Amino acid sequence: MTVRTRIAPSPTGDPHVGTAYIALFNLAFARQAGGKFILRIEDTDQTRSTKESEQTILDSLRWLGLDWDEGPDVGGEYGPYRQSERRDIYAKYAQQLLDDGHAFRCYLTGEELDLIRSQRREQGLPAAMQQSALVLPADEQQKREQANAPFVVRMKIPTEGTCVFEDMLRGTIEIDWSMVDAQILMKSDGMPTYHLANVVDDHLMKISHVIRGEEWINSAPKHQLLYQYFNWQMPTLCHMPLLRNPDKSKLSKRKNPTSILYYQRMGYLPEGLLNYLARMGWSMPDEREKFSRDEMFANFDIQRVSLGGPIFDQEKLSWLNGLWIRENLSITEFAKEYQKWALNSEYLMKIVPLVQQRVEKFSDVAPLANFFLSGMLDLSEADFKHKSLSIEQIRKILQFSVWRLDTHNQWDKDSLYNVLKQLTDDMELKIRDLLFPLFIAIAGTNQTVSIMDSMSILGPDMTRARLRHAVNILGSASKKELKRWEKEFKSLGA
Ligand code: GLU
Repeated sequence: MTVRTRIAPSPTGDPHVGTAYIALFNLAFARQAGGKFILRIEDTDQTRSTKESEQTILDSLRWLGLDWDEGPDVGGEYGPYRQSERRDIYAKYAQQLLDDGHAFRCYLTGEELDLIRSQRREQGLPAAMQQSALVLPADEQQKREQANAPFVVRMKIPTEGTCVFEDMLRGTIEIDWSMVDAQILMKSDGMPTYHLANVVDDHLMKISHVIRGEEWINSAPKHQLLYQYFNWQMPTLCHMPLLRNPDKSKLSKRKNPTSILYYQRMGYLPEGLLNYLARMGWSMPDEREKFSRDEMFANFDIQRVSLGGPIFDQEKLSWLNGLWIRENLSITEFAKEYQKWALNSEYLMKIVPLVQQRVEKFSDVAPLANFFLSGMLDLSEADFKHKSLSIEQIRKILQFSVWRLDTHNQWDKDSLYNVLKQLTDDMELKIRDLLFPLFIAIAGTNQTVSIMDSMSILGPDMTRARLRHAVNILGSASKKELKRWEKEFKSLGA
């Protein structure tokens, strides 16, 4: 059997370090076995998927040296490799499931579903809804069919018993069918959901091993059932441990920068970051910390993955990256790499338009713009002293800004301005009261270029990290105070 593995990112945001981590293990597994590694774009969620996100995912994975043999940009025998270009394929298979009686059309509206859900909650029934809970009276079903009302296609689920499946790292897993819902396979807009598209594509692309994050374990019963309905052989499954924040919770941008773009902007070497990701839950046979991608591939054995949740620790990453930067670059290479990182024309062309009108000579540029080339800023409480705002108010403004920006995904300067302006209105502040602490947190000074532009250039993760850093410098809120703030923040509305 030819080993074929894949990474299947959804292009709905910044490229996530977790995607790189899973891609690395898929690539290592394929290379070790002399197989192929495929990149497939799972963009069935049309409202959240964007071309820009797809491009930054491809660029970031390539920057890390995670090269794929087949994919939307390099082609291959089993394309297209973008799900939005494969719609007809899924429609055909959904129809086949309907014809074979493995799926059904569900005409329930959102409100009707909410009602069923709340009734089930009251009756203490399981949250997972199966076909019997989702049927309309026969005449009503017929009426809606005749009226061409919108419907979704759902899969049928066994009403009793247990689903048993195998995982390469975890052995036999059992999940009660009563926990599994009659999953939507086709949405009313005719697009498939992840579950249908993923199974159909893994089969048609001849994927032999599905190595993915453990958050998908609960989906495995549905997938196994779909393979059975289609009479296809299921790939071997392997669920990797999730990356975690230092407090053991699932790695999230609210606590830790998760975007590969952040680690680029911080000036990590791709070799250092990749080495660190490889160390997440996996070790070399001789346990050494520093090793290259190819050394990993030559020694790869998936059974050496340990299932304890690996902690993503930035200090450890910096330490490892330091070894790479000091030991693996000659002076000339360091100079070249630094130049590429700091003075590349793409980055400069974002900064220069902001700077040019404010300087008289080139030597004025660095003091004005050095924060574009920094990580966390060296700040103290004294930097936040303001003539009319107290430190307490400043702490609150920064904390509320962090919370507001945590749920904000658009990062152009206008939408940043709008969301922060809204916050000042909600908090009954003047915009300039909010701008002062932001300037200090992001740039270290308010004598510099536009702060909205700066945040937009630095990107979401760097912006959030500097704001959180500022909150910490001013002293995080006590538990009691935090509770009060949270309540107040919620009452502002989003
Ligand atoms: N599109 C899914 C994701 O974004 C892929 C999960 C899988 O590998 O099956 O993670």
